[in-house]
Amino acid sequence: QAKSLGRGRYVFFDESMREQLIASMTLEQELRVAIVENQFELHYQQISDLMLSNTIGFEALLRWNHPTKGLLTPSEFLFMAEETGMILEIETWVIAEVCSQLKSWLDSEDEHKNAFIGVNLSGRHLTQANQLCKLIGLIKEHTIEPERLILEFNESAFSKNNELALKGLRKLKELGVKLALDDYGAGQSSFNFLHNYPFEFIKLDRSFIRTLNGSDINLALVKALHELGGKFGYRLVAEGIESEEVLQKLMKVGCDFGQGYHISRPEKIVNQSDNIERLVPKARA
Ligand code: C2E
Ligand code: MG
Ligand code: MG
Ligand code: MG
Repeated sequence: QAKSLGRGRYVFFDESMREQLIASMTLEQELRVAIVENQFELHYQQISDLMLSNTIGFEALLRWNHPTKGLLTPSEFLFMAEETGMILEIETWVIAEVCSQLKSWLDSEDEHKNAFIGVNLSGRHLTQANQLCKLIGLIKEHTIEPERLILEFNESAFSKNNELALKGLRKLKELGVKLALDDYGAGQSSFNFLHNYPFEFIKLDRSFIRTLNGSDINLALVKALHELGGKFGYRLVAEGIESEEVLQKLMKVGCDFGQGYHISRPEKIVNQSDNIERLVPKARA
C-alpha cells in the first residue's frame, strides 16, 4: 500500500511538471509565430523634465498582441524571449520601429522632432559573439540622428562578462547614441556604474522611488546621486512616479527627469497634444 501511495504522489508531481512543460513549450511556439506574424507593438511613455514640466522624450515599451490572450506586458513573455535568444530578433524590430518613429517626427516637423526615444536592450547584445556588430549595423542602417536614440541596459547586462560588456558599451557610444543604466537601486547598484561607465542617464528603479511615498528616508540619497551626476556626467531619471507627493520631493532635490503613471501612462500612439503641463498642472504650483 505504501508503495502505491508513493507512486500516486510521484504521478501527481509528474502531472504538474508535464503541465508546466507544455505551457512553456506553447509559449515558445507562440512567440515564434508572433515574430513571423509581427504581433508586437510599442507603447510609449513620456519622460519629462521635472523642472521645466515639459516632455523631453519617450521610453518605448514592448507589448505582445497575443491572438487569444490579448495585450501582454513583458513580464509575461520576456523571460522566454531572453532564454531562447528570440529577444534579439524582437529587438531588431524594436529598433527599426523606433527609428522610423523618430524619422517621422523629424519629417513632419512634429513638436516632438527634438524628442528622444529610449529602448530597452537585452545584455546579450553586448556579450554574445557577433551581436554587437549586428546591433551597430542596425543602428547605422536606421538612425538619422543617433543622439536621439537612448539605449537602456540594466546591470544584469554586466553580471556575466563585465569587461566585454563595457567594451561593447564604449563602441556603441562611439556611434553617437546615448546610454542609460536602467533599474538602478533595484539590484547590487555598485558605485562603479556611476563613474566608470559611459552612461548619460541613470534611471532610478521604481521600487526605490516608491519608498519616497510617506517617507524621506531615501530622499537624501536621490539628492546625492543627482549632485554626483554633475561631477560624473550623468543625469538622473526617476521611474515610477505615481503621486504628486513623490513628484514634488524629486523636484525639491533637483532630480532632472522622470516618468510614471502620475505624469503619463505608456500609450500606443503618442498624442501630439499630450503635454506634461496639461497632465500635471499642479507640478508648477
Ligand atoms: P523598465 O525599462 O524599467 O520600464 C519601466 C516599466 O515601468 C514599464 O513596465 C512601465 O510600464 C512601468 N511603469 C511606468 N511608470 C510606472 C508607474 O508609475 N508605476 C508602475 N507601477 N509602473 C510604471 P513594462 O512596460 O511592463 O516593462 C517592464 C520591463 O520590461 C521594462 O522595465 C524593461 O526592462 C522590459 N522591456 C520592455 N520593453 C522591452 C524591450 O523592447 N526589450 C527588452 N529587452 N526589455 C523590454
Ligand atoms: Mg527601461
Ligand atoms: Mg529595464
Ligand atoms: Mg527600469
